Amino acid sequence: MTRNFTYSALVLRARPSGIDNREITFLTAEAGLIRATVFGGAKSKLRAHTEPYHQGTLWIYQDSAKDFRKVSDFDVRFWRPGIREGYERTMTAVSVAETILESCGGGGEWAASLALAGRTLNALDQASAGTCRRIAVSFFWHWPELLGQRPDIRRCASCACEASGDGVLWYSRLQGSFLCAPCAARSQEPRLNFLSLGPGARRWLAAVEGLDPALLARYTLDQTALEEAEAFSTALIAGILGKRLASWNY
Ligand SMILES: [Zn+2]
Repeated sequence: MTRNFTYSALVLRARPSGIDNREITFLTAEAGLIRATVFGGAKSKLRAHTEPYHQGTLWIYQDSAKDFRKVSDFDVRFWRPGIREGYERTMTAVSVAETILESCGGGGEWAASLALAGRTLNALDQASAGTCRRIAVSFFWHWPELLGQRPDIRRCASCACEASGDGVLWYSRLQGSFLCAPCAARSQEPRLNFLSLGPGARRWLAAVEGLDPALLARYTLDQTALEEAEAFSTALIAGILGKRLASWNY
């Protein structure tokens, strides 16, 4: 049985398939990740339209019996040419795309996944090198919420005490949650398992909660806080995926 489908879609990855074709992986608002083939060589218009980070309306022809999908058309609304113009922008976009691919497109709230990915890539399109890293950390902080696994950064998961404004909370990689200093000291867990999250990093994560990443240029943080926020947010995703991604280190 063959059918045609329409999706709101973002290109996450394009890979060669056969001599002249490409296999494209899309994140769609309707069905999460979808893989489909684009036919045609380097001069094909459809091939030029289905480059990574392009987003728009996708038409798919599907043959269910053969488990085969072909891209019939892709009407691009967001091109984001700026992402390919800078090393930091490109590498950040790769790390975002790989994180989405490795976590199967999110936890099922596909429209929200696509919206977060789209906002993140829009911000990257014009971002300075320094802002790119903050955009990445903001994405890593928001993404686990869509996977349904995000710890509270305001209080200790063990004694439920609230973290003081100038205190440090300790993120347990084993438990995927935060402990206050006394609870961390009492824990049997090896010290190396804990990551510190100081007041600067916590304030920044709270401030950018739900913020459009296009505004992150205004939300600066010092190097220590940035490194803490990055180490914690990637450890959080690594705990969910069961591995760290090579694309996070650039
Ligand atoms: Zn505690």
